[in-house]
Parts: sequence; structure tokens; C-alpha cells
Amino acid sequence: MKTVDEHLADILAATRPLPPLEVALLEALHGVLTEPVTAPVDLPPFDNSAMDGYAVLSSDVAGASETSPVSLSVVGDIAAGDQGTHAIRPGLCARIMTGAPVPAGADAIVPVEATDGGTAKVTIRQAAEPGRYIRRSGEDVTAGQTVLQAGTRLGASQVGMLAAVGRARVSVRPRPRVVVLSTGSELVEPGGTVGPGQIWDSNSFALTAAATEAGAVGFRQGSIGDDPRRVLAAIEEQLGFADLVVTSGGVSMGARDVVKEVLSGLGTMKFEQVAMRPGKPQGFGLLDGRTPVFTLPGNPVSAFVSFQVFVRPALRALQGLPPEPLPTVTAHLASPVRSPSGLRHFLRGDLRYRDGAYEVSPAEGQGSHQIFALATSNCLIVVGEDVTELSEGDRVEVLRLP
Ligand code: AMP
Ligand code: MG
Repeated sequence: MKTVDEHLADILAATRPLPPLEVALLEALHGVLTEPVTAPVDLPPFDNSAMDGYAVLSSDVAGASETSPVSLSVVGDIAAGDQGTHAIRPGLCARIMTGAPVPAGADAIVPVEATDGGTAKVTIRQAAEPGRYIRRSGEDVTAGQTVLQAGTRLGASQVGMLAAVGRARVSVRPRPRVVVLSTGSELVEPGGTVGPGQIWDSNSFALTAAATEAGAVGFRQGSIGDDPRRVLAAIEEQLGFADLVVTSGGVSMGARDVVKEVLSGLGTMKFEQVAMRPGKPQGFGLLDGRTPVFTLPGNPVSAFVSFQVFVRPALRALQGLPPEPLPTVTAHLASPVRSPSGLRHFLRGDLRYRDGAYEVSPAEGQGSHQIFALATSNCLIVVGEDVTELSEGDRVEVLRLP
């Protein structure tokens, strides 16, 4: 049997980053930049007011206080967007709004709260040292500065940064398009009626949602049955569109393991036993020379765990990101566990932070069909291949589920 690490290493060795694509800003969200982005101008581009108030000469208000206010003539209003035609000389000031350009001559802003708010004349009750409440040109970013490095995954704040330096389009490795298909003639779409021997298809939903959670774009194709010709046609049909394909079911040792049957020998597909629980039967390979295809086992918990352990890192690799695992913490076991020798065991559990430390309780019901235990868990407890028994209080590694 192959180890989890060997299987993941094979997957990552085969997975090539997607080609860059130039997209509009909002389409770039969760994409990974393939170019460094520099600022064409200083940010802020000009000295501007940090407050609604009055642009003054600091020397005029040096002695201002509650008990000895200073009176100045107001030459006009400067709003954000104005071009700053005013000039301030001693004894004068301008009413100014946040973000408006500081007029020539002024070297400080007095906030409106420290004045009587006058429009022709204003009484100022507070001194302001030179530079007070002025946001200097270039104090955020200087022209030519790299504001985002190549390889940055774009979140909301990075999209804002791009817009702030005037970019409308950027080159990214886009979110991978993941097509999810489930096999099984027993499967019925949720919303339909289950007859004898039938169950609702949950894998295609869980895996599509997991792909979206992992930062990809999930496309659910639903169940494609168990008929070999139809299964093969349905998978092949997706290859032109998908960046990555995930199937569930039909890869174990049964008499009708259709996925294994139709994909064996195609591309670089390999069907193997991986030393893990749940999720032993795994298939992976490239079809059409480029599209990674993951054929995950059918049991819902097996499919889900396999996704987190193998597909998630591959999705990161498609975007050229380091294939890091789920966020991992060390926790103390709240109850003992037993684990099979020779397999890496991913137990479903409930992780809590209590009294300054993490504690984790293994879920009741560790069967690979037990969706409820999975749905009420927030982590996977990892028990190594060589460990067969752990006691209450022992330290374990825990993968936090998204
Ligand atoms: P298989 O690997 O196809 O033999 O499936 C193993 C187990 O997982 C069987 O009990 C299937 O009914 C169940 N199963 C397979 N696909 C799904 C699915 N999409 N949703 C829920 N259960 C499934
Ligand atoms: Mg099946």
C-alpha cells in the first residue's frame, strides 16, 4: 500500500499551475497574481486633510486655547475633489473637508470640533503644530513602489489595493474550475423521492461546496449513474472545460466499480490503495495530458476526507501556491482513541479552546458512512501510521475544517 505522503507527492508532482489569464478586478478575487503590481503615482497623490475642519497657518493658531481663542477669516470651502485654487496667508483660513487638497500656504488642519464652525469668520479654540491632520503625499505608497508581489492570492483588501493604484485588469492564475460528478445507480437528487435501495446524492454537494470553500469554482454535475458508457462520456465531456475533475464512488473492490473500469489505462490514471482511514481506494491521474482527475471513494466521509487531504493541496498547486495542508493545531485528547496499525487515521472530532489550550473530542460514530458525525465535527484528528492507542490528555495533531 502507498502512504498518504507518497500519494500526495505523486499528485503534486503531476499538477502544473494553470496558465495566467488577464481578468477584470472583481474576477481576480481569489486569483493569484502572476505579475508584480507597482503604483504609477504616490498615494495619497497630494497632501490632503485628514479631518473636516479648517486649513490654517500653524503660526496663526499657536496660542489658541479654550480661554484665548483665535479668530480667522474664512476664504472659502475646499471639498474632496476640488483642485485647490485657494491660498492661505496669515489671518486667513479655508474650511476644508476630509480628503480635500490642502491649500497653498496652510500647514495644519484644525478639526471642526475645536471651532465654532463659522463660515465667514471662525473662532478656533485649539493650537495645531505644523503638519497636524495633514496626510502627506506618498505617505502610504510612493510612485514606483511594488504594492503587490507576484504570487499573492487576492483577497478583498488586495483587490482594493489594485483599484487604488488605478488598475482595471490584472494577470492572475484564476480560481480552478472544479467539476464534481458522482457515480452510483442508487443515487437520487435531493428534492426527489427515494425508492427502495436508493439514497440521496450527498457527495456531489459536499465536494462541490468543499471546492468552493477551498477557493476554487465548483460545478456540480450530480449523479451520472453506473453505466460504463455514460460514465465515461460524462467525464470526457468535462475535460475541455474543467481545470480539475472530482468523481466519487465506483473505485473500490466491488463487482461494479465503474469509474475504475472505464478510466483504467486512460491518460496517467492509476487506481491504488492508500494507507489511510477513511479513504483507502484512491484514483488519480491526468487526462488529456493536463487535467487532474481525482476518483474518490463513494462513502461520504471517505470522499470528504480524501478531498481535504489530496484535492485541496492540488487546487493550491494549480494556482502556483505552496500546497499547504489545512490549518493544523496541536490539541489534547479529551478521550482515548484506538487506531489501526499501518494506516493514517483521520478521526472526526470537536476542537475547543479552553483555559488557554486546545482540547479535542473524537466524535461518536467514526464509520465512513456516518455523515452526521462529520457534519457535527469541526476538525480531523490525525493519528499516525505507527500509533495504535492514545490516552486521554495525549497530544494529537488536528486539522481544522474550514
Ligand atoms: P461505492 O464506492 O460506489 O461502492 O460507494 C460506497 C458507498 O458510498 C455506498 O454505500 C454508496 O451508496 C455510497 N455513496 C456513493 N456515492 C454517494 C453519493 N454521491 N452520496 C452519498 N453516498 C454515496
Ligand atoms: Mg457506487
